[in-house]
Amino acid sequence: MAINIILLGPPGAGKGTQAQRLIQERGLVQLSTGDMLREARSSGTEMGRRVAEVMDRGELVTDEIVVGLIREKLGQGGKGFIFDGFPRTLAQADALQALMAEMDQRIDAVIELRVDDAALVSRIVKRAEETRAAGQPVRPDDTPEVFADRLREYYKKTAPLLGYYYAKGQLRHVDGMAAMDEVAAQIGAILDKEAGRG
Ligand code: AMP
Repeated sequence: MAINIILLGPPGAGKGTQAQRLIQERGLVQLSTGDMLREARSSGTEMGRRVAEVMDRGELVTDEIVVGLIREKLGQGGKGFIFDGFPRTLAQADALQALMAEMDQRIDAVIELRVDDAALVSRIVKRAEETRAAGQPVRPDDTPEVFADRLREYYKKTAPLLGYYYAKGQLRHVDGMAAMDEVAAQIGAILDKEAGRG
């Protein structure tokens, strides 16, 4: 029985980190629109160039582009999907619901990673420092200035999804400020409960 979940939360909340664990521990497939868009921007196409400009300003790419990217990947399902950084707008949430219905699938749980905003800024600074120390290129949108814009976009366009999924009875939350293992354990408990419901 496949299980499909959405990880919801502001940038820097740890969605990507938790998604990695779910891939390893449960064999779920991660669908990160941020990763797909970073791939598109490095492709050197006109679309990639436009996407890069929007990302570097910390704004959201159009719904049409991201829904298109997700649609392309949905055929590859196995044990289920972890949607990471998608949906980010109400229109994307509606589009996802329609896509899942087409495949006779559903979203089993939407897990909000609750975090403290002030802590997010220091997390992002730390992420950039660690990346630089490892000799890897730092994401251009991981600067405190762009990060502030990304956070604003989150509150304006993505936070309304909390109400949307709450109203559907699908919203769960974990303490995103807890240690990584503890967050993983809380997510695991939610998934086990959902899986138990069949
Ligand atoms: P992320 O890696 O999820 O933090 O995404 C990095 C950037 O990619 C965001 O700041 C947006 O510019 C863009 N992006 C990622 N996912 C979406 C989405 N679902 N809708 C619109 N833009 C997105």
